[in-house]
Amino acid sequence: MKISVIGSGYVGLVSGACFTEFGHSVICADLDDRKIEALNNGRIPIYEPGLEQIVTRNSAAGTLGFTTDVEDAVSKADVVFIAVGTPSRRGDGHADLSYVYAAAKTIAKAMTGYTVVVTKSTVPVGTGDEVERIIRETNPAADFSVVSNPEFLREGAAIEDFKRPDRIVVGVEDERSRAVMEEVYRPLFLNQSPLVFVNRRTSELIKYAANGFLAMKITFINEMADLCEAVGANVQDVARGIGLDKRIGPKFLNAGPGYGGSCFPKDTLALAKTAQDYDTNIRLIETTIAINDSRKRAMARRVIAACGGDVRGKTIAMLGLTFKPNTDDMRDAPSLFIIQALQDKGAIIRAYDPEGMEEAKHLLQDVTYCNSAYEAADGADAITIVTEWDVFRALDFPRLKDIMVQPVLVDLRNIYRHDRVEDEGFTYHSIGRP
Ligand code: NAD
Repeated sequence: MKISVIGSGYVGLVSGACFTEFGHSVICADLDDRKIEALNNGRIPIYEPGLEQIVTRNSAAGTLGFTTDVEDAVSKADVVFIAVGTPSRRGDGHADLSYVYAAAKTIAKAMTGYTVVVTKSTVPVGTGDEVERIIRETNPAADFSVVSNPEFLREGAAIEDFKRPDRIVVGVEDERSRAVMEEVYRPLFLNQSPLVFVNRRTSELIKYAANGFLAMKITFINEMADLCEAVGANVQDVARGIGLDKRIGPKFLNAGPGYGGSCFPKDTLALAKTAQDYDTNIRLIETTIAINDSRKRAMARRVIAACGGDVRGKTIAMLGLTFKPNTDDMRDAPSLFIIQALQDKGAIIRAYDPEGMEEAKHLLQDVTYCNSAYEAADGADAITIVTEWDVFRALDFPRLKDIMVQPVLVDLRNIYRHDRVEDEGFTYHSIGRP
């Protein structure tokens, strides 16, 4: 099958590359010529484990191509996936659909023959109807179907998630496009991955419901962590105790600094806005958003308290900047809020992240970027672990103690044990543990 993917970011590039592994022929298109030039020269513009091998293999085989000529890519395709960004709209928090609608117009002008247009971007209920309207208005003679196929991959584990998904959700309005989507995902179907066919609006909502639920689950355990601190209980044991219950499940129960990243913050906001537009209550999500926002500020206060209540002129080493490990994605990372709040109180920030520093440099001012955890900790009054990269899991504490002004560790990811760190002579603060 001939597939084109419009938008070659985290989702578009991973999807396009993985579709070639399913036996399809794929063109990934993007308006960002630097991205496409990099890809055409064998460089991967994002950090995603395992992606480079797949891209290299299929580019060499001639089944994966990259272009800035979106119309040309569309004209050659049986199926066109829209995988452009849907960030929060400035001012009101609705999903900004301008990139999706621009892509729909381009597709309308360029499509030849029956074309299935699939929205993979996360879009609010009713967007498929609008995409259909735009295409019909732009090209009244076009023969096409509009399908919703939200993506559930996790950055850092995207290849595995795409090739072995828990489920594939497809929203269709006609049998013709359903048959095409069955063909697109046939290898996964043969692997017995559940293919869930629903109507288009339901499919669009499933994506937001999933992200809303997960954000709520994280927020729940974060509030439990606060309660654990107040009553002398251990949140990791609580998480295990409830997570073993199959109705609850063990995932997304790690207490931490609040959720961030390119999806949960904007998707929870967009879900709340959709509910308001339709005059229905979704107070659980609205509350989740409010709790999470205040949690990020609370994390900065925690670091300040660990430094004796005042960070003016003190140096804080931040370990980890990305919103989670194994990605270079800095969008809405908790580190951005925590660092800003500490700087507002006069702290001097030194930081190290294995993959996120290039991007962080565009988003944070007055931070000294370092080449290792040890360089960051040199002369620091406290270390704060913000992201649980593996390299931070076995820190050399005697070495750190030698180079720090004070041996203080604030572990916002609970990757250490109190006794182990305190035996090394450190003052240790973690989340929700006695
Ligand atoms: P991204 O910002 O990494 O990539 C989007 C790309 O689209 C950019 O490279 C941009 O240049 C390109 N683009 C924009 N308009 C274009 C146009 N008209 N023609 C061609 N290219 C265009 O975004 P992303 O993280 O890949 O997210 C894409 C969508 O997938 C979003 O709706 C997001 O919510 C959703 N999603 C993301 C993830 C994730 O983990 N990142 C997971 C699931 C779903």
